[in-house]
Amino acid sequence: MGILEKMRLDGKVSFVTGGARGIGKSIATALAEAGSHVVIVDMDLAESEKTAVEIAQLGVETLAIKTDVTDEADVNQMIETILAKFGKIDVAFCNAGICINAPADEMTYAQFKKVIDVNLNGVFLTSQAAARVMLKQGRGSIINTASMSGHIVNVPQPQCAYNASKAGVIMLTKSMAVEFAKTGVRVNSISPGYIGTDLVLESPNLKPLIEQWNALSPIGRMGRPDELQAIAVYLAGDASDFTTGSDFVVDGAFTCF
Ligand code: NAD
Repeated sequence: MGILEKMRLDGKVSFVTGGARGIGKSIATALAEAGSHVVIVDMDLAESEKTAVEIAQLGVETLAIKTDVTDEADVNQMIETILAKFGKIDVAFCNAGICINAPADEMTYAQFKKVIDVNLNGVFLTSQAAARVMLKQGRGSIINTASMSGHIVNVPQPQCAYNASKAGVIMLTKSMAVEFAKTGVRVNSISPGYIGTDLVLESPNLKPLIEQWNALSPIGRMGRPDELQAIAVYLAGDASDFTTGSDFVVDGAFTCF
């Protein structure tokens, strides 16, 4: 089989958490372009439904499911709903995430726990639930969205909970990859640099910082969600069969110095 054929995802079933908008929507679109059926999993059902309709134009089947990734019952119900419709799960893209900016000495415990709950515990719950299905199938690819913030401390904005949560996602990914390595279930993460999505552009705290970030960035600009598509399609499909336990930093060289 040639490499381009191995990159195809025809007939596969993928779900994307945080898939309604931003990075998740872009990845969901790419998976569909490569031939996968796609389930949009998000707390925001209205936006998920719009995204699912848009992606269905590409000729694959889509479904929108309202799920809070921090709620175990909700996550299990989401998996059951996907299995009832499609009978399998090939690709789990665990991507839902939030950021709260506050100095470490002022951040409330509730704020800290909220970020860890969505970004780390949510990835644990969704990847664990997907893995349970994939282990029975003897095959599957789990891809988690970490961040360059799991590698470096961003400046000038204070975001200790976010950085800690993303470092946790990277080690959770590696730990699951090692445990599942011989089973056919692969687990990898993607660590984007700054990407122009609502998370940044709709945040009154973060938006004014873009010029400072660009000045610190070797490439001199933020990334676009579509610039993460190729690595996600690669990790989803058979082309990456030997790739597990890896974290892919896609950041325009931001973390190089
Ligand atoms: P976004 O805010 O544009 O989209 C996030 C989506 O996640 C939203 O649709 C939201 O409804 C959903 N969501 C939030 N909490 C949820 C929950 N508990 N359950 C289900 N869905 C939930 O954000 P984005 O920029 O597209 O970020 C996606 C991922 O990429 C996040 O994990 C983020 O930390 C990570 N990331 C973003 C950047 C960036 O610069 N934008 C950089 C590195 C990593």
